[in-house]
Amino acid sequence: MFAAADFERVRLWAAPDHTRVVFDTTGPVSHEIFTLPDPARIVIDVPGAKLSSPQQSLTASGGLVKSIRAAQNSPDVLRIVLDLTRHAKPRSFHLAPNGQYGHRVVIDLYEDGPAASTQANTAGNAAGGKTPRNRAAKTVTAPQPAARQQATTSPDELRDLVIAIDPGHGGDDPGAIGRNKTREKDVVLSIARRLAALVEKEPGMRPVLTREGDYYIGLRQRIDKARAHKADLFISIHADAFKDHRANGSSVFVLSRRGASSEMARVLAARENAADLVGGVSLDDKDDLLREVLLDLSQTATLEASFSVAGNMLGELQRLGKTHKKTVQQAGFVVLKSPDIPSLLVETAFISNPTEENRLRDARHQQRLAQAMISGIRDYFGKHPPPGTRVARQYVVKSGDTLSDIAVQFRVSLNDLRGYNGLKSDTLRVGATLRIPPTQDS
Ligand SMILES: [Zn+2]
Repeated sequence: MFAAADFERVRLWAAPDHTRVVFDTTGPVSHEIFTLPDPARIVIDVPGAKLSSPQQSLTASGGLVKSIRAAQNSPDVLRIVLDLTRHAKPRSFHLAPNGQYGHRVVIDLYEDGPAASTQANTAGNAAGGKTPRNRAAKTVTAPQPAARQQATTSPDELRDLVIAIDPGHGGDDPGAIGRNKTREKDVVLSIARRLAALVEKEPGMRPVLTREGDYYIGLRQRIDKARAHKADLFISIHADAFKDHRANGSSVFVLSRRGASSEMARVLAARENAADLVGGVSLDDKDDLLREVLLDLSQTATLEASFSVAGNMLGELQRLGKTHKKTVQQAGFVVLKSPDIPSLLVETAFISNPTEENRLRDARHQQRLAQAMISGIRDYFGKHPPPGTRVARQYVVKSGDTLSDIAVQFRVSLNDLRGYNGLKSDTLRVGATLRIPPTQDS
C-alpha cells in the first residue's frame, strides 16, 4: 500500500490523436480508472490521496476534456472525474520522478477507441515503473529498404519530395529553458513552421510536421510519422542548453554508429533521448528490430546521404554566423535512427547563451535559420534528386531541339531552364541531359 499522497497540480496537452492529462502528486499512488457513458466521463479513484488543500481545484480543459472535478469520495479515496467532450478510451500510468518533475499520474485519452463502456483497469505499478502497465498494442513494421519509384518522363506520375520537419520536445517537455524563460519547445516549433512554409513554396517539395502544436510525441513516433509519409529527409530542430553559457553557434548532427564524436554530442544525445521520460513515455525503447537494422549495410547509404545533406546545411548556417563546430557532428539521437531516411538534427543555437536566447526569440532570426535550412535542402536535392520525384525530371536533347521548344514542352520558363542547368548560351548539344526544373503544377 502506498503512503498518503497529495494531488497538487494538473496539466493538460491536446494532441491531434489524443489528450494527455498529467497530475503532479507528492508521492507514488495507485489508482483505478473507469469510463462512464452518457455523458462521457472518466473516473479516477485514488485510495489514500487527497487534494493538497481543501480549496485546491484541479482545473484544466482542452482536447477531449471539457472539465475536471475532484472530491473526496470517502475519507480515504480521492475521486477525480474528467468530463469529456466525447467518448474516449483511457490509458493511464504512474511516472516516477525525474530531473524535471516529481511523481505523476498520466491519463492519455484516445478518441478512436471503441465506444466507451464501463471498463475498469488498475494501473498501480508505482514502485519503480516508468513503463506503463497497460501498453497499447504496437505494431512494428519492418523498415522498408529505400524503394523509390522508377524514374519516369510522365509528369503525372512524378511525386513530390517529402521533407519531415521535427520540432523537438513539446507539451509537458519544454526542452531547455533560457535565462529569460524562453522555452526550447516554443522557438523550435516556430522555426519549424517557418521552414514548413518555405518547403511548401518550393516547387516539387512538400513538408510534414511531426508535431503541429504544443504537445509531446514520442521519439519513435516521430520517426514513424516520417516513414508513414514516405519522407525523403528528416530534420529535427532543437535549441539546447549546455553547462557552459559561453557555448554558442549552430551544430548539425547525424547518427553515430558507435558512440558520439564529442563530449558535447554525448551530453546532448543523453538529454534528448531522455525526453521520452520527461514529457512523454517511452513505449518502444526496446525496439530491437530497428536497432538490428542499424547494423545493416543499408544504413550506410542512408548515413552517407545524411552526411551529405548535413554538410550542405552546415555550410548555409555558417553564412548566418559562427557555427559551434566546423564539421558535421555525430551522436546517438534516437530520432536520427531511421534506417532508410536520411536524417539530421540541427541545434540552431544554445538557448543557455543569453545572446543566442535573444536571437532565438527574434522572428527575423528564426526566418533566417529556416532560410538557411531550405537552402541546404535545395542544394542537396539539386545534386541528388531521388528518382521518380519532380525535382528529378530530365530530358535528353535530340537533333533539332531548341531550348525554347523544351521549355514549352515542360511548361517551364526559358529563364528557369537556363538557370537550373547553368547554361550560358541557348546552343544545345545533341545527347546532352537537361535537368527540368520542377513547377508548381507539374
Ligand atoms: Zn532539444
